[in-house]
Amino acid sequence: MATFTVTFAGGAQMPTGSNFLLQMGGKKILIDCGMVQGEKYTIPINYEKFSYDPASIDILIVTHGHLDHVGRIPKLVKDGFKGKIISTAPTREIGELIMLDSLGVFGKEAAHQGIERLYEEQDVLRAVHLWDTVLEYEKPFSYQTDAGEAIITLHDAGHILGSAIIEIAFQGKRIAFTGDLGNTPSPLMRDTTPLRNVDYLIMESVYGDRNHTDKDKRIEILKEAVVSTIQKGGTVLIPAFSIERTQEMLQAFNELVEHKEIPSVPVYLDSPLGINVTKVYKKYEGWFNENTEKIIQSGDDIFAFKGLIQTPSPEESKKINDDHGSKVIIAGSGMSNGGRIVHHEARYLPDEKSTILIVGYQAVNTLGRRISDGEKQVIIHNQPVQVRAKVVTIHGFSAHKDSDHLYEFVDSTKESLKKVFVVLGEPKSAYYLAQRIHEGYGLDVVVPEKGNTVELD
Ligand SMILES: [Zn+2]
Repeated sequence: MATFTVTFAGGAQMPTGSNFLLQMGGKKILIDCGMVQGEKYTIPINYEKFSYDPASIDILIVTHGHLDHVGRIPKLVKDGFKGKIISTAPTREIGELIMLDSLGVFGKEAAHQGIERLYEEQDVLRAVHLWDTVLEYEKPFSYQTDAGEAIITLHDAGHILGSAIIEIAFQGKRIAFTGDLGNTPSPLMRDTTPLRNVDYLIMESVYGDRNHTDKDKRIEILKEAVVSTIQKGGTVLIPAFSIERTQEMLQAFNELVEHKEIPSVPVYLDSPLGINVTKVYKKYEGWFNENTEKIIQSGDDIFAFKGLIQTPSPEESKKINDDHGSKVIIAGSGMSNGGRIVHHEARYLPDEKSTILIVGYQAVNTLGRRISDGEKQVIIHNQPVQVRAKVVTIHGFSAHKDSDHLYEFVDSTKESLKKVFVVLGEPKSAYYLAQRIHEGYGLDVVVPEKGNTVELD
């Protein structure tokens, strides 16, 4: 009987829905339990039964707080999971905010479709209760199995606040799950920690087949888009993920405003979740990179500047409609598949003076993907909406390593690697990266299918 296996329960040949099952020494360890992100939260795949019995899982280790890594944890609890949840401290706080937020989105969507939501508030609260173990980077954690000790170590993935690569050493073998890998050097995060002496690597591939060609020019493109739109009297819409991208946008506007590089206009942060996550970022500002820490120590609040207006309540949000002048609106969701940004898009996409800035990954079948693909008419709230606004895409703000940097990431541990599993990317990205790593390093690389179980001995 196999004693050391990994099962690709989710996140295989798709960028979202991260969920891997490691079985070793009589224990079942789950890595991430994320939602599949598409047009809606209520897509059938998120309602599917887990391919394992949640009650049989001993521990769940979470790489980071994004919805596609934590979104199905409350369902796991609802379906019987009673084990321990482990992550860094910021991941636990962000994870709680994300689970509570998704409860609201599920509530709205499910009511609209006349179906049950995926989980209830009590399931989120139980998940928070089980999430009782926080680890720091590079501080090994000993976990007892029936066949000896396993050592769990978290490394900084450099992706979002608290993001970790999970490394597990057991019976002389090391396996590492990258989660998502940061676009190092990043504006806020520290660099990704290189891996050493890993035998089995399960790595992401969101941008496995593409490079972020405009990374050096991202602030320049942002500035140019904002200035030209304001000169025309238009509005700049920025659909932004609540975690990391919102804080990066605030940091960028903080710099541009304080150095007077853009005209003074209101910058609305119209995202309750984005506002709450920014509070978590402020709390953990000691986790940022050296450059950012220096700026903070000089006395600058990097997430606040003249002209910033936060609109947490629906009433405050609606007041933005009374502002007929030039302005910037940062709002969620990042892929325009829900959230307040959609209301602003219905209003400003038909306006040729306005600009929509795409600064994040857009999954297939989302409104954001349709807009970034250049569709001239989209459907919002069941109504056709003409897209006359200028669409500007900046890839360089991505929080993911691009193809070149994913390839380079393998280098530090290439001597010890026995096998690489490429996951968390659309098939085209995953296969391209797998081929590249196989040819470049001469390694055994596979792109697993959902449900595959592989023996690691
Ligand atoms: Zn992520």
